[in-house]
Amino acid sequence: MDAITKRWEEIQRKISEACRRSGRDSSEVNVVAVTKYVNRETTRRALDIGLHHIGESRVQEAVPKWEELGDRGEWHFIGHLQRNKVKAVVGRFTYLHSLDRLSLAKELNRRCEQDGRPMGCFLQVNVSGEDSKHGLKPDELLDFAREVAQMPYIRLEGLMTMAPYAENPEEVRPVFRRLKSLQSELREMGDPRLKVPHLSMGMSNDYEVAVEEGATYLRLGSALVGRDF
Ligand SMILES: *Cc1c(COP(=O)(O)O)cnc(C)c1O
Repeated sequence: MDAITKRWEEIQRKISEACRRSGRDSSEVNVVAVTKYVNRETTRRALDIGLHHIGESRVQEAVPKWEELGDRGEWHFIGHLQRNKVKAVVGRFTYLHSLDRLSLAKELNRRCEQDGRPMGCFLQVNVSGEDSKHGLKPDELLDFAREVAQMPYIRLEGLMTMAPYAENPEEVRPVFRRLKSLQSELREMGDPRLKVPHLSMGMSNDYEVAVEEGATYLRLGSALVGRDF
């Protein structure tokens, strides 16, 4: 068994255990294989072993990979996206995990209309408040979500956050819990378009805690596909 298969089996086991501990069904938890640290061969290998969701965060590296492998799996753009790069993402990626400002939403809506297909979007929230992190402030979320919900070519899927790195992942549990409570606030606003089903949270270092707190999309790079560079 190769290294990536072994890691994938281990991760699936840990996800099942975290689901059991928190009374969840593991079929609710999707794994995005984040391939930004690996080359095309390793990305292909990830698809070969049945990983279906592929996550990339830089347009320049993502596009050549997509050109080769984009007809397999579903592609998630998870990194910060500049407005002038939206056209490279539309038509290739099915999901955007980092929608965090109106100018980006407008450009995305416009390009997706031209493409004739809506984009599944996660609103990125900077729950921890770190300066180094992109995302909406929690108190900006509701107004932003209401505006974006008016845009016909943006389909709201959920919320996304990145927790700060912590030696002990228990320390970031409150970050995940807060994202979950923001999702509940959105869902209670009475607009069906704001009843977002998903939470994109949990990375290599903290995904078990994220599962316990309700994650439906984990974004796993180094712990799953490893690093080629
Ligand atoms: C790189 C990255 C990940 C994956 O990071 P790992 O810690 O290697 O799992 C997840 N989400 C985002 C937004 C990233 O940029």
